[in-house]
Amino acid sequence: MEQPTPPQAPISPIDALRRICFLLERGRESSYRIDAFRKTIEAITLISDEELRERVEAGTLKQIKGIGDSSAAIIGQAVRGVLPAYLVSTEEKHGEPLTRGGEALYAALRGDLHAHSNWSDGGSPIEEMVLAAVELGQEWMALTDHSPRLKVANGLSRERLTDQLKRVDAINASLGDSFTLLRGIEVDIHLDGSLDQDDDMLDRLDVVTASIHSKLRQPSFEMTPRMVTAVRNPRTNVLAHCTGQLVTGGRGKRPPSQFDAEKVFRACLENDVAVEINSRPERCDPPDELIELARDLGCLFTIDSDAHAPGQLDMKSLGCERAERLGIPAERIVTTWPVDDVRAWAKG
Ligand SMILES: [Zn+2]
Ligand SMILES: [Zn+2]
Repeated sequence: MEQPTPPQAPISPIDALRRICFLLERGRESSYRIDAFRKTIEAITLISDEELRERVEAGTLKQIKGIGDSSAAIIGQAVRGVLPAYLVSTEEKHGEPLTRGGEALYAALRGDLHAHSNWSDGGSPIEEMVLAAVELGQEWMALTDHSPRLKVANGLSRERLTDQLKRVDAINASLGDSFTLLRGIEVDIHLDGSLDQDDDMLDRLDVVTASIHSKLRQPSFEMTPRMVTAVRNPRTNVLAHCTGQLVTGGRGKRPPSQFDAEKVFRACLENDVAVEINSRPERCDPPDELIELARDLGCLFTIDSDAHAPGQLDMKSLGCERAERLGIPAERIVTTWPVDDVRAWAKG
């Protein structure tokens, strides 16, 4: 992967707006402004360059639904060949790399095994997520929207997952060989350790990322067998954000779940399940000492974004900093592998 270089003038209005959204999402700015800019992008995609120029000159841009003062200023400057001031200031505020360290590992990353679209609780269409991944130099990405039980996150029923797989196939067909969108899911782990989707549906997927979103405060003697059962399920490939901790951010703090980590990671090792290093800054999951434990046991890892918006795909740089600092060899990180190797591992 590579950090995108800051844009220069001239820049198209859409490229300027997309770059602004990318930077705001990556900087975890309020979604209200980002949503407004994304609506503008949708609106002007349908308008010819000529009409856009005419409207800039006539001052009638804001008559278009979805274009407010800020958007109109950005479009106007871009159309006139000037780098929009809003882009310049956003670049100043959010354009720096998210962290120092982990750069070699970041460059070695090829994919992501945890990313969401607006089919569940993400903010953007699948196509926008793919486009951003391509621009970051990724070679592949698994689309892992939530499973049915997670109603608050608009989890996908069997029927909706079936529809989504058709969309994924269509997107892949349009991409050719340059990028692969893997069929995936973030499947909830039930209290008894079973997975929240039918086996025949899971069999249709390339990869299965499993995680816990309920009863995080179970005692260890219940949580440990719950996790081990999920890891032993032959359909599970990744154990995501295993402690459920929240260390910072708007959702408040949450302590890590209690479980016998050595037992759980040994099960991961024996069942060829990768331990996810979740890159979201509010999760930072697992904590360092658990990553070290999984490292010493010989587990595989993934470095995932858990992105809910295109700009958040770049949060993997935070996971890379941690993995490199904790001495995880790149070859043990599945998200550095070529996509064919990932497919073979997942179905192996
Ligand atoms: Zn999750
Ligand atoms: Zn997720």
